[in-house]
Amino acid sequence: MNPDTTLSIPGLSSEDSLLLLRTSAELSFNSMLITGPDRHIVYANPAFCNMTGYSLDELLGQNPSILQGPLTEQGVIDRMKAALEKSGTFNGSTINYRKNGRPYLVEWTISPVRGQTGEIRYFISIQKDITQLHAEQSTGNLFAKAIDAAYDGIFITDADGVIEFANQGFEIMTGYAPTEVIGYKPSFLKSGKHDNTFYKSLWRHLNEGLPFRAMVINRHKNGHEIHCQQTITPVKNSSGKVTHFISIIKDMTDRVFEELKLREQASHDSLTGLLNRRAGEIELDIALIQAQEKASLFSVLMLDIDDFKIVNDTYGHLRGDEIIKAVADILMDHTRKTDKCIRWGGEEFIVVLPFCDLPKATDIAENIRAAMAASHFDEAGQVTLSIGAVESLAADTPVKLLERVDRHLYSAKGAGKNRVATE
Ligand code: GH3
Ligand code: MG
Ligand code: MG
Repeated sequence: MNPDTTLSIPGLSSEDSLLLLRTSAELSFNSMLITGPDRHIVYANPAFCNMTGYSLDELLGQNPSILQGPLTEQGVIDRMKAALEKSGTFNGSTINYRKNGRPYLVEWTISPVRGQTGEIRYFISIQKDITQLHAEQSTGNLFAKAIDAAYDGIFITDADGVIEFANQGFEIMTGYAPTEVIGYKPSFLKSGKHDNTFYKSLWRHLNEGLPFRAMVINRHKNGHEIHCQQTITPVKNSSGKVTHFISIIKDMTDRVFEELKLREQASHDSLTGLLNRRAGEIELDIALIQAQEKASLFSVLMLDIDDFKIVNDTYGHLRGDEIIKAVADILMDHTRKTDKCIRWGGEEFIVVLPFCDLPKATDIAENIRAAMAASHFDEAGQVTLSIGAVESLAADTPVKLLERVDRHLYSAKGAGKNRVATE
């Protein structure tokens, strides 16, 4: 570059050109530094003084190396020196220091200004403090990394519900890779387990700009259900318009199954899988309430294994347990899903038969008795059951009902066992 020709604006006197160019430099937001070929500062614009904290007077005649410090990368400085020797141009970035010692990250370019014979007369350096930008970028990266590494599934949709981002947690949880879902609406996660009311409530929250939180049953890519705690939060722009939705899903499947298992354990007998006595008492209460509310009736069977003490004493407890399990199987085989089979005690059972009158209950009891009598057990051979059967009365309480059915069981035993006794 030849300063005599370049530094003049066509149509203007060189004096005016210089004035305008000088003013431009003075007003520039970018920091500007001019050094002589010996690298001593001959000019610094106000932006440069502002960036470094030095006044122009303090800078003039100095070598820009006064800006360097312990964290300045020597490698970058070496590359700069080599580049200036070779071509006079350089681009780079490193840490420099303000007059007060505070470091800042600077990015700068250096261009040579050559005289008429091509000799370098000046170097012009344009500099930019990129500390803030870099910090934003690296925190941005950090956030992106944190979101990606989060164990929870996170996905972000636009205002129309189209997925723009999904993290690794989402893939682990749902089986769908981010690339498979970006550009699609998350309806592929629907399990069909929620009705319209559920989605209405969801959209009412979101449309009002409120977050929505619920246990949601989603469907994994493999087809199985995943029980998730899902939070959907609308994101608004500065004018209050919803631009995105952020969904965070926590896989609660293990916890849900754990809870179901605990509930199952609490209400079921471990040997037979039938309801235990505590759960059975509740079922009996429910049946009575239902019968009263609907003015309907139900029946109850009470069953006890005949001469079981002898079986146990002769063939052992384990053989005895096998027979108890066999009774449970027979009960399940001869009742409906809505009937309740309960292991009431060691070798005593109760069956609650909702909406079932005494003749039907007697038939069922008789079928159970016959199935048991027809079974053949290892060593023990035939083992039989005695059964009492009753129908509920409007004024029944659980105690009254149980007393009645127990009486009938007792009469079945008294009448020779292996029989059904009814009122
Ligand atoms: P009955 O015909 O009058 O019913 O005579 P029984 O011998 O069956 O007498 P009872 O109904 O009183 O049965 C009690 C016996 O049942 C005691 C015990 O040997 C057996 N028993 C009770 N609970 C269990 C159990 O959980 N496992 C096993 N193997 N045996 C049990
Ligand atoms: Mg008994
Ligand atoms: Mg018995």
